[in-house]
Amino acid sequence: MISISNHFIGEEEKQAVLEVLESGMIVQGPWVAKLEEEFAKMCGVKHAIATTSGTTALHVALLANGIKPGDEVITTPFTFIASANSILFTGAKPVFVDIDEETFNINPDLIEAAITSKTKAIMPVHLYGYVCDMDAILKIAEKYNLKVIEDACQAVGATYNNKVSGSFGTGAFSLYVSKNIMSGEGGMITTSDDNIAELCKLIRAHGMKRRYYHEMLGYNFRMSDLHAAIGVSQLHRLENFTIARKQNANYFNENIKSVIIPKLKSNYGHVWHQYTVRVEGDRNAAVKQLNEAGIEAVIFYPVPAHKQQYMQDIVGDIHLPIAEKLSNQVISLPVHPQLNASDLETIVKEVNKL
Ligand SMILES: *Cc1c(COP(=O)(O)O)cnc(C)c1O
Repeated sequence: MISISNHFIGEEEKQAVLEVLESGMIVQGPWVAKLEEEFAKMCGVKHAIATTSGTTALHVALLANGIKPGDEVITTPFTFIASANSILFTGAKPVFVDIDEETFNINPDLIEAAITSKTKAIMPVHLYGYVCDMDAILKIAEKYNLKVIEDACQAVGATYNNKVSGSFGTGAFSLYVSKNIMSGEGGMITTSDDNIAELCKLIRAHGMKRRYYHEMLGYNFRMSDLHAAIGVSQLHRLENFTIARKQNANYFNENIKSVIIPKLKSNYGHVWHQYTVRVEGDRNAAVKQLNEAGIEAVIFYPVPAHKQQYMQDIVGDIHLPIAEKLSNQVISLPVHPQLNASDLETIVKEVNKL
């Protein structure tokens, strides 16, 4: 089976983990600090704050931006559920806005109509590694004085007009094992705002700056040095990983003829967390056919957030036609850096039989 994701662990990761084990210090320490420093540099921001997951990074980023019960946060329904759940954790309500058919991302033209007196923030999600139309989103945020929290969990290193994801607002990243780089489990918040960074650090560790004096309610979302050691090594590989993903995606772009392939604009630096095609016929049969041919094609995501059972109690029975249509058309194909030439040929040959 050609798998949909395949993390890479090399000598650098193994040596780094061994070093942590032998140091006798396993909890948040120098490796977390190193990962934060290098991650901030990669994003072109002043601060990066490590957490336990992308989900907790989003949660902390929202709290640090003052999102609280009764507030509304505008986001996309076409995403992994953690985007919407992190909004619910704060007591705020997710307000779902439909997506753009070509980019799979939130449609900025529909955002203004969803703004109410309760709206406090916009959470764009850079799905599949493709940054949202940030000029349009930042313009609306400025006009209505809204915070911007980027769900960049799938978009580490992705760019828009040469600016890196996570540098447009407060960024949240995942270092989960299937993401473009990983630390096993892990997350990262990015910001150039000193106050937000300080709040994130407090919320991450029980509101504690001075030992056992607690300035506010916080959580335990600290990353361990073991995880950070893997993350640092992976961050060193990011550029090469991204080049390999781009080469694989370019090969698909040139050779896949049977289905709708992603459309690209030149000012976007896609990092191809997923290579996602659209099938207008029987999508589920197409997935089955690919799986039987030894290709782990996967549907990200079969049910948009607003149509999840428990979410209906919160947002009601709303209709977002593009997200609903695309959730019935999308198929993600393996595009990860470990694919070899023969894997790529097999994928193209089988997809072109659809
Ligand atoms: C993976 C992911 C998350 C959550 O990250 P975890 O590390 O799994 O908690 C959030 N949003 C998106 C879009 C993701 O892909």
